[in-house]
Amino acid sequence: MSETKFVHNTNPDVSFNGTLAQFQQLSPSAMIFLGPPGAGKGTQALRVANEYLLPHISTGEVFRAQIAERTLFGMQAAETMRRGMLVADDAVCGMLAEHIHGLDHPGCLVLDGFPRSLNQAKWLDQFLRMRAGQNHEFYTAPLAVQINVTRDQLFRRLSGRRCCPNCGQMYNLHFHPPVNSGICDNDGAALITRPDDREEVVLERLRVHDQNTLPVTEYYRRKGLLQEIDGDGTVDMVHAAIARLTRTLTF
Ligand code: AMP
Repeated sequence: MSETKFVHNTNPDVSFNGTLAQFQQLSPSAMIFLGPPGAGKGTQALRVANEYLLPHISTGEVFRAQIAERTLFGMQAAETMRRGMLVADDAVCGMLAEHIHGLDHPGCLVLDGFPRSLNQAKWLDQFLRMRAGQNHEFYTAPLAVQINVTRDQLFRRLSGRRCCPNCGQMYNLHFHPPVNSGICDNDGAALITRPDDREEVVLERLRVHDQNTLPVTEYYRRKGLLQEIDGDGTVDMVHAAIARLTRTLTF
């Protein structure tokens, strides 16, 4: 293994000045947040990304932005999303590659909601290798973090979710209701249910997760790249468990 000094300075507070071999043990090429819809992947992924100044990439968010911009791709994905089904692998992977190239960020990616199928996981393996230099010399394995939450809890979190169409503030009828029922605390707008948070769609999203995404968890487990976190606690408790993990890494 080369003894070339390798300086990784994605995060200005932490610069690693060691050998490539040491670097590879410390810095994953991606942190992949896995777990059923409603497990809190988005919240936790965003916190890690903000803490370490890493790009947070949520494929669901990228799709919603495309829908808001009324792009052709967004219009095509909208119906699939409304029904709680998965957008075709080719379309998701193509869009994600374009998005990551646009970021122009060489370091660890924080992925939220991707990969959601075995095909996407295999595609990601190749993609991360290709990103890591011409001969993949800077390749490091990704780290998958699975957030586990009981089914009852998930259903209450998802079906109770409401949001303000004006300011985007999120509420939950069970855990964080607005002061006046159905009305946004910030601007008084009538709260709405996101189309894919309707009860029948929530059930479909959980079914789709079990069928398509549980095999992804197994895929990373078999490779020894999976860490599991109990996601039933508060946001801060779950974050603390993830922080114990990230503290051992250098980004
Ligand atoms: P999310 O916000 O992550 O729950 O994603 C919302 C919806 O976007 C999902 O229910 C899917 O329809 C679609 N979607 C997001 N990410 C993916 C993905 N990796 N593969 C396929 N469809 C996706």
